[in-house]
Amino acid sequence: MQKVEHIGIAVKTLASAVPLFEKLLNTPCYKTEMVETEKVNTAFFKQGETKIELLESTDPEGVIARFIEKKGEGLHHIAFDVADIEKEMERLKGEGFVLLYDKPKPGADNKLVCFLHPKHTNGVLIELCMERK
Ligand code: ZN
Repeated sequence: MQKVEHIGIAVKTLASAVPLFEKLLNTPCYKTEMVETEKVNTAFFKQGETKIELLESTDPEGVIARFIEKKGEGLHHIAFDVADIEKEMERLKGEGFVLLYDKPKPGADNKLVCFLHPKHTNGVLIELCMERK
């Protein structure tokens, strides 16, 4: 695994969270994107090498809506950049981690992504992401 690529934060609405994070980080949101497969709208900020990804549910039954219902808004996942996602998934499987998918899926921001089950990572949802070529 390489650097922390981004930190995902679950929010109720981008309409209120984006202006707040623009003020907080003193930088404009540079991209918003809907990820249909995950039922989320995302908004991205660049802070040095790392990005902040705000996640808003597009569906009351979606994963982000259910997360907020259970835990409230806040830190949702940490994403690490990987050079070869399939290789890294194999390595982690071999180490006994549980991956949420068998194959990497297209994610926001032109990435292939996979998540690790938080039950086996001290409650932290970990995302692996690799730039799509
Ligand atoms: Zn993410």
